[in-house]
Amino acid sequence: MTKIANPEAPFVEIAYERPEPGVARILMNRPDRANAQGVAMTYELDRAFQRACRDPEVHVIILAGAGKHFNGGHDLGGRGQPDPREGRSLWGEFDGPGWAGSYAREREIYLDITERWRNAPKPTIAEVQGACIAGGLMLAWACDLIICSDDARFRDNTAADMAIPGVEFFHHPMVMNVRKAKEWLLTGDWMDAETALAVGMVNHVVPRAELPDFTLGVARKIAATNPFTARLVKEAMNQAQDAMGRRAAMSAAFSLHQMGHMQSLLTNGLPIDPSKLPASVREKLPRRG
Ligand code: ZN
Repeated sequence: MTKIANPEAPFVEIAYERPEPGVARILMNRPDRANAQGVAMTYELDRAFQRACRDPEVHVIILAGAGKHFNGGHDLGGRGQPDPREGRSLWGEFDGPGWAGSYAREREIYLDITERWRNAPKPTIAEVQGACIAGGLMLAWACDLIICSDDARFRDNTAADMAIPGVEFFHHPMVMNVRKAKEWLLTGDWMDAETALAVGMVNHVVPRAELPDFTLGVARKIAATNPFTARLVKEAMNQAQDAMGRRAAMSAAFSLHQMGHMQSLLTNGLPIDPSKLPASVREKLPRRG
């Protein structure tokens, strides 16, 4: 755990790249697991964002995933506890009784950390290929721009498959119109890249082979804008979105999300209903309650 605490420790589950001046590229690097995000990756990502934001030579940050898929979601089989020394918020006591520990954990590693990345002062671009599922959506949505390949597809299966009313970082009604968001979350259907473009969730769809270069090209253009002005633009846009109620709506949804976990715990003995999940995932879930 102490290796995570050291800001200079080498990255294991991600790679920190500097493809050209002004641009940092954070690459999730667990391609054999569709870049599943466990606790270790979460804190490595946080460290990488911190490094990029504090480096005056970096003006734009790209978040990418190695391999076939951008991100297959949270690592449900690797539900490690955060190290309290690593905590980015003041929530702690991750082993608290009843739902207290789980609530603190969800606040810290899903809601507050994702929100911290969303509020990174420097512009961020998600570079998305293949599948982007559930927790993977949170990573893409936290970024300012999303550029995806033509084979990208998006799905929040938490409601349809796990009896949870959407991922913790509840941006569904912020990234598409509410009617479409309701259908997408209630059915658990896949959304293809062209539809994601049509509903306004992504900025560009490009051929798969061109994705990294195209994304770098957009990053290059943004990096040429006065870096402090770019921060002010981002801040103004984020403040506008928050003035429209984003933060309050997300907090309310997060409370309902917790109710979903507790209902599942009371009825299934697990914080999610596992009955529709593949057996390989089911047997890794830690039983509690
Ligand atoms: Zn949750």
